[in-house]
Amino acid sequence: MTQARRPLIAGNWKMNGLAATGLALARDIAAWREAGDPGCDIVLCPPATLVRAVGEAISDSAVAVGGQDCHPAESGAHTGDISAPMLLDAGCSYVILGHSERRQDHGETNELVRAKVEAALRAGLIAILCVGESADERDRGVALGAVARQLGGSLPEAARPDRVVVAYEPVWAIGTGRTPTHPEIQEMHAHLRALLGRAMTGGEATRLLYGGSVKPDNARGILGLPDVDGALVGGASLKADDFWAIVQSCR
Ligand code: PEP
Repeated sequence: MTQARRPLIAGNWKMNGLAATGLALARDIAAWREAGDPGCDIVLCPPATLVRAVGEAISDSAVAVGGQDCHPAESGAHTGDISAPMLLDAGCSYVILGHSERRQDHGETNELVRAKVEAALRAGLIAILCVGESADERDRGVALGAVARQLGGSLPEAARPDRVVVAYEPVWAIGTGRTPTHPEIQEMHAHLRALLGRAMTGGEATRLLYGGSVKPDNARGILGLPDVDGALVGGASLKADDFWAIVQSCR
């Protein structure tokens, strides 16, 4: 990874965390970050109920806060949903979009994800756009094509390399303890970088995160790959020590 693409480590807390545990976790990370620049950007994405409180608790630090989803509209009759301007108003600067759990559990299509990314960009948020093949697609040898189609369908024309981060998350690696090999990760990231270069002016500079069972013991190897610019971390982001060990693996 080059210094032009400053690494990003994003913690996706998913549907985990009550106020006491969430705030303690965020405060630990913020305190360690303020003790010295680890050489990467850090964003914590708590559940929506904690976004504002976490943002306020760590407002003196360089740690950013992100949402885990947003609705394509700015406001309206959408019970249970949250808009991109609402996330911004609550202190977010990032939002994860198109996570495979949203695509699977909520039937989110590429078209919907694209509309959400557009909404995030309109609001001034940085969109972390997730793509990744299924186990079946990997087994059939069609992972590169499947991910290319997902990216093509979910990336809006308005996307800019400094406003969008792409996270490659093979569905079969999320929460399973399994990861692709280093050559497989590098191959996919190089492929995504080439696609982004064709899709946007300067698109090669887009930060590309790997996500899927990143842990302290495998982070350094994955983060050292030439086209990996950081990680989207699920389970290991819920333990301050583990998350911090991954942050420190950026160097
Ligand atoms: C994720 O949910 O984005 C993720 C990568 O989860 P895990 O690290 O637990 O595999």
